[in-house]
Formats: sequence, structure tokens, C-alpha cells
Amino acid sequence: MARLMGRIIGPAYGNEEPHGCNNIKIVISTILWYNGNSNTGKDVINMSGKTEIICSMLLKENIKPSYARIRIMEYLMSRKSHPTADEIYTALVKEIPTLSKTTVYNTLNLFVRSNIARVLTIEENETRYDADMSCHGHFKCEECGMIRDFCFRSAAIDTNDLDGFLVREKNVYYYGLCPECLANGTKS
Ligand SMILES: [Zn+2]
Ligand SMILES: [Zn+2]
Repeated sequence: MARLMGRIIGPAYGNEEPHGCNNIKIVISTILWYNGNSNTGKDVINMSGKTEIICSMLLKENIKPSYARIRIMEYLMSRKSHPTADEIYTALVKEIPTLSKTTVYNTLNLFVRSNIARVLTIEENETRYDADMSCHGHFKCEECGMIRDFCFRSAAIDTNDLDGFLVREKNVYYYGLCPECLANGTKS
């Protein structure tokens, strides 16, 4: 099953990238993502100078780079598992005992509003977050739940019918079975 999803809000009152430095964000995020092994699902990427990069990224969006915000963005960037807010909270509260779930939710919402992170609603009952703003789709294994990024060319999708609309989100979601679950004899 494949779903092509998009949230359309119209009429248009600007271009689809309201923040002028969007290209810079994509470059930074690409450098971070490909600095490590991106072939495995939950790899932690070695980011030298990561704090400075995240700091300047936040400052560019007029976001005060508090320690919690930096660590939340760092967590998001260093994992390809597309974590939920709860997962981020659980991972970071050991290190930041004053952290609350509300802070995590508010921070993630702030990142999304600032266009430096995006929401994945690949399942209706869970909200996941992704700091990789480059053009890519998401595959979810219906058996083990793993989510894998895949590349697609957005230019290949004909959006002529949306002329005059402002597209705020572009999501391509695929569902099925990963090779491991297929090999384990899961129903196809
Ligand atoms: Zn699987
Ligand atoms: Zn992704």
C-alpha cells in the first residue's frame, strides 16, 4: 500500500518556502546526515562541531539556543529512527532532569514552525519528527515498525492541478514489509 499525502492550504500568499535560508538548512542537515553510516536504522552519527552548527541554525531562526533545545535538535539529527516526542523525552531526561514532556513538545513544535524539522504522521496514532528537510519519502514496515527514508524526485510528481495553492507539507508514505520481515516469513 502506498499513500501520497499532502496538506494543502490556499490561496497562496507566498512561495512554499517562507524562510529565505531554507537552502542553508538543507545543506547543514545533509552534511550531518551523511557524516556517518546512514545505511542502518538507528545509527548515531559522529558530529564534530555539532553544537556550534545547531546553535547557529537556531539563532538564524531567532530561537534562543538553550541547552535543552540544542540537545533535542542534536538528538533528532543524529538518529534516523524518526523519534516520537516521548522517545526524545525518555532519552534526554536522564541527562537533563529538569526536562519536561511539555518542553519537548513545545520545542519540537517550535522547530516545525521554523521549518527546521518536520512532522511525520505515517501512523495516525503516533507523531514522529525528522530534522532532515531534504526531499525524501518514508517507508514503514507494518510488521516491525521500522521507518526507512527513500529518495524520490519531487519534480516527477505533477502538481499542475495545485496552481494557486500554497503547499505547506509534502509527504510520501509507503507501507509494506522490510526485507528482514519478509525473510522471516511474515505474510506478504
Ligand atoms: Zn520489518
Ligand atoms: Zn526522514
